[in-house]
Amino acid sequence: MATSSTEISQPHQILIVNEEACREVIGRAEAFRAVESVFASMARGSAYNFPVVREAIGHADALYGFKSGFDQAGLVLGVKSGGYWPGNAAKGLTNHQSTIILFDPDTGRLKALVGGNYLTAVRTAASSAVSIAHLARKDAKILGMVGAGFQSTFQLRAALEQRNFKKVVAWNAHPEHLNRLATVCQETDIPFEVVSQQTLGAQSDVIITITSAFEPLLQADWIKPGTHLACMGTDTQGKQEVDQQLLAKARVFTDEVAQSISIGEAQHAVTQKLLSAEQITPIGGVINGTHPGRCSEQEITLFDGTGVGLQDLAVASAAASLADTHGLAQQVTL
Ligand code: NAD
Repeated sequence: MATSSTEISQPHQILIVNEEACREVIGRAEAFRAVESVFASMARGSAYNFPVVREAIGHADALYGFKSGFDQAGLVLGVKSGGYWPGNAAKGLTNHQSTIILFDPDTGRLKALVGGNYLTAVRTAASSAVSIAHLARKDAKILGMVGAGFQSTFQLRAALEQRNFKKVVAWNAHPEHLNRLATVCQETDIPFEVVSQQTLGAQSDVIITITSAFEPLLQADWIKPGTHLACMGTDTQGKQEVDQQLLAKARVFTDEVAQSISIGEAQHAVTQKLLSAEQITPIGGVINGTHPGRCSEQEITLFDGTGVGLQDLAVASAAASLADTHGLAQQVTL
């Protein structure tokens, strides 16, 4: 059977977009637009994520996996592959490592290889920023940050652009890392204060949690009426950042309900029957105007940001196209 010779004679060009090029072409505004738009597509049913694979590989203590999906409207098909290597920091590398691979949805051929480390941080920050833009009270003044790891400064910068915040209060289990957030506040000329968890709850109008915690860091009765929370750290079974009773009290939104109830912050409230999947609204519905979002100034809104593959594909596709336009992508013939 002589079938392969025609295919072998059809070389094609692929793009390689490195971390530096991604930083050049994708800022917070581009990430916000890409993430908001793909959340809207997901809610319309024109973009969907495939089941996530995440495995402990039994080497270097690493967690490895892939997140994949297809955006039919934007014609973006691909996969983000990578995970968490806890020993990397000692080698001067980021613990989270990932690469995004884009395919041509018409032929299945490889289209682009895009560095995923910076894009993961900027797309995760865009996700909570989209939730703040659509769900926080317009008069929110105090931003509370729980967590001070690698993602936290991206989260803080993106959140500060969504409301006219007058002050940032912060808490972290490892207080020595809080100076990262203080530096961002200094640069953006906004007062910064390290506080207890209770004080953070009592003062904040918007709270972002971005930690690797496995137990609640904020109790339900510490949170004041009208607060918006973006819970961004819980992306694995067993993790938890806030009291499950808070999810029973709040109006809950998410990027994707299936992930929210299985690996997201809602997993505990759902297991304990404090909340059902039907009570959780995809934020895309709010973006599309099919759900009103916040229904009163007094209600607590909570966004369970679990992180979906389509977010990665959306920012990677934008990065590949912009890097190509600006001559920042390497072209390789396969
Ligand atoms: P990091 O390792 O740089 O920082 C971890 C943060 O969690 C630090 O603030 C640390 O002090 C805190 N922490 C660690 N163990 C804790 C514990 N037991 N109790 C309380 N706090 C604890 O990680 P990062 O890159 O900043 O990521 C933070 C979290 O966000 C991770 O859990 C990661 O899996 C998650 N994440 C989620 C998404 C998403 O889309 N939702 C995307 C990227 C990362």
